[in-house]
Amino acid sequence: MQYANEKKLGFAIVGLGKFATEQMMPAFRDCKHARITALVSGSPAKAERLAREYGVAADSIYTYQNFDSIKDNPAVDVVYIVLPPALHAEYTVRAARAGKHVLSEKPMAPSVKECEQMIEACRKAGKKLMVAYRAQYEPFNLDAIARIRKGELGRVMQLTADHGRIVDPTGDKADAWRVVRKMAGGGSLMDIGIYSLNAARYLTGEEPVEVTATDMTDKSDPRFQEVEDRIHFTLRFPGGVLATCTSAYSIAEVKRFRVFGDKAWLDLDPATDYYQHTMTIGTKQGKQQIALREGNQFAAELDHMAECVLQNKTPKTPGEEGLRDIRLIQAIYEAARTGKTVKV
Ligand code: NDP
Repeated sequence: MQYANEKKLGFAIVGLGKFATEQMMPAFRDCKHARITALVSGSPAKAERLAREYGVAADSIYTYQNFDSIKDNPAVDVVYIVLPPALHAEYTVRAARAGKHVLSEKPMAPSVKECEQMIEACRKAGKKLMVAYRAQYEPFNLDAIARIRKGELGRVMQLTADHGRIVDPTGDKADAWRVVRKMAGGGSLMDIGIYSLNAARYLTGEEPVEVTATDMTDKSDPRFQEVEDRIHFTLRFPGGVLATCTSAYSIAEVKRFRVFGDKAWLDLDPATDYYQHTMTIGTKQGKQQIALREGNQFAAELDHMAECVLQNKTPKTPGEEGLRDIRLIQAIYEAARTGKTVKV
């Protein structure tokens, strides 16, 4: 494996939480161009255990305090930030200063200002910045986009997208920060409604011109003292599509969208899960289920980041893509707060 490893870029994983350890780190085994070469954690025992499991050298384990010394580690090309959103900007800026490329988890950061700081830090350092929008590397979503662009649905008229689950801040440690505004930046919209928003943009291939929103959060629920639960929003696109989207932290799990054309509709349910996506196309003739190879979306995303560095290309989901969603999320919050249509 020595030869294969030499062609692989080294990734430092920052924050060894649920998503990093359960989904992303195992996915490196399927990567052609990426491997784990460093770990950054506030928990030394966990980092040591995972370093042994993934073959990471003991001197490539960092804490948040000594993270900046990663600049002296030539085995690290890319820093992959899997921390709560409020920490993405700080670690992106520190990584860029250390001369490393950056892959940041979504949402990019709570504010437009922080997103702009992340873009500027990487631009100044001459380093790549990519936001980890895994659905944009996932085969069913890519196939849906291709079918829409080919005109299989006819003229696209409208779409719906729903993302929801039950947030459990007392039962699940990974949900504890999700209801704390200063860590999460917002509630269900920042965390999962962003998939509805991002999908509406990549399915239409357009940027919305105006948004409306209604916040239906029950403020008597102790989970939602700082962040929103249910928020419904619409996005009006210049080509005439109206997207109706929902986001919720208090409903049974849903991660789906449906695109309606004047010839056919396309349904992906689930659309943005980790596995087992299901695509159905409906026409006058009836419904047809589309079989596709599932693939490993996490490995595809990591390999894309590595390829962009190796070939000096701009990532398909650069910092600017993350910034667009954060601008829109802020517009959705404003629309919900004021009850007015917000032009963007
Ligand atoms: P976790 O809480 O499980 O993981 C976050 C980790 O960050 C912690 O385990 C901890 O790692 C580290 N950390 C450092 N400082 C803090 C702090 N003050 N509070 C909490 N954690 C801290 O969350 P997730 O793994 O679910 O989410 C992490 C990131 O990944 C988020 O940005 C989230 O939006 C994103 N995500 C993306 C998904 C996707 O599909 N693309 C799915 C799920 C999450 P340590 O103990 O090693 O220091």
